[in-house]
Amino acid sequence: MIGKNSEKFSKDWKSASFDIVIVGAGPAGLMAAIAAARTGARVVVCEQLDRPGLKLLATGGGRCNLTNTSTIDEFVAHFGRQGRFIRPALDALKPPTLRTFLEELHVPTVSPNGFHVYPASQSAGSVLQALGQAAESLRVEIVVGAKAIRLGLEENLITGVETTQGLIEARRVILAGGGQSYPKLGGTGGGYAMAEQAGHKLIEPIPALVPLITKETWPGQFAGTSIASARIWIDLKGYPREGLRGDLLLTHRGISGPVVLDLSAEIAQILRRRAEVPIRIAVTPDVPAADWSAQIECWRTQAGRKQLFTLLDQKLPASLAEALCQVAGIPRPTIAAQVSAEQRTRLSEALTGLSLTVIGTEGFDQAMVTRGGVSLRDVDPNTLESRLVPGLYFAGEILDLDGPCGGYNLQWAFSSGYLAGRSAGKA
Ligand SMILES: Cc1cc2nc3c(=O)[nH]c(=O)nc-3n(C[C@H](O)[C@H](O)[C@H](O)COP(=O)(O)OP(=O)(O)OC[C@H]3O[C@@H](n4cnc5c(N)ncnc54)[C@H](O)[C@@H]3O)c2cc1C
Repeated sequence: MIGKNSEKFSKDWKSASFDIVIVGAGPAGLMAAIAAARTGARVVVCEQLDRPGLKLLATGGGRCNLTNTSTIDEFVAHFGRQGRFIRPALDALKPPTLRTFLEELHVPTVSPNGFHVYPASQSAGSVLQALGQAAESLRVEIVVGAKAIRLGLEENLITGVETTQGLIEARRVILAGGGQSYPKLGGTGGGYAMAEQAGHKLIEPIPALVPLITKETWPGQFAGTSIASARIWIDLKGYPREGLRGDLLLTHRGISGPVVLDLSAEIAQILRRRAEVPIRIAVTPDVPAADWSAQIECWRTQAGRKQLFTLLDQKLPASLAEALCQVAGIPRPTIAAQVSAEQRTRLSEALTGLSLTVIGTEGFDQAMVTRGGVSLRDVDPNTLESRLVPGLYFAGEILDLDGPCGGYNLQWAFSSGYLAGRSAGKA
């Protein structure tokens, strides 16, 4: 069973021989192990934590949004500038093939909204258990509590991996140690040093899919308030006003929610060169400021004795209506007839271009993924083998790739693990 203690390995490893060592038992490493073992290779996975797949268990709030129903072209587009790199891996294990693969392991999947895909069990544990059982049935050795420290390298050839439990000899190594996000769940950037040891360049890791901290403190008073289908954009020259659209959440220190997470890495990048990033939020992106202004004027003349808050409350969730009135400087008891022209303008602006100032992110502790990592420049996308050291492969978040919320990152972890494992197994 997956997650056995490391005693067995400590006793046996000197006598065992392996073709491939995989560093990291996350989704990428476990899938790589299965794919490599299916080619007949003898595979060992070393995992620094005392159990495999800890981060996988936390995905999708424990429900594991493992992929989505996008086409491969859409996947490529969602990985941005470097998206082309993922295509061969996605071709090797397509999103529908991942679902079939899991179904064959008795983990059927469902897509309740036609886009996000989850295990029908609604449990990330069932996915981890299936991967563990598949690996075990292929005689993959999973060693927990074994942190990989250095590559064994002789004259640019792989000889194995030095771990906290000793040297494991093998001619091929797959680095699948993930990024730097959520250190408690294994995100320690534990594979970066080994990649650098092999001569690979590292792109500075920054937190991605991370909540943002704002200079304004009022969101904290309304923490938990969600804004459905808002539009958010970076209010700086050169950044598109279309921004991104999706659900947003007010938090104790600022803002979060899918649309904020998706924009967060870009903001984190700007924060490296300036202290503050102005952003704007259209709470009602389909209603222009002029229409709101006309609506408020209409309330003033036709429902003048009603509180403005009560009228707005009929159009928006109560806590959001309260927050916007506060931002516009309209005390709650104000009746519609008392609303000044200036207050009307401020409220219309707050509804269509609410201004906030981002001064930081919640950092790697709360970042769901890492932007940056091992540069793609020296990695062959068709095999995921290093172009610098033959026999060295990469899979998953360790590489300089990150996708948005919605199952993109796990699909990449599984597909890249599959391709790296298969390539290393056949090499
Ligand atoms: C809270 C949370 C929720 C998420 N939800 C989703 C979701 O619903 N859908 C989605 O697509 N993505 C989600 N993600 C992102 C997704 O979990 C990651 O993209 C994915 O886990 C990356 O897989 P990986 O195998 O590359 O790395 P990881 O899952 O990070 O696994 C790497 C493993 O390597 C081990 N390791 C590191 N260094 C060493 C070393 N030196 N020696 C030995 N072992 C080492 C680590 O302990 C870890 O177990 C979520 C992330 C978080 C944090």
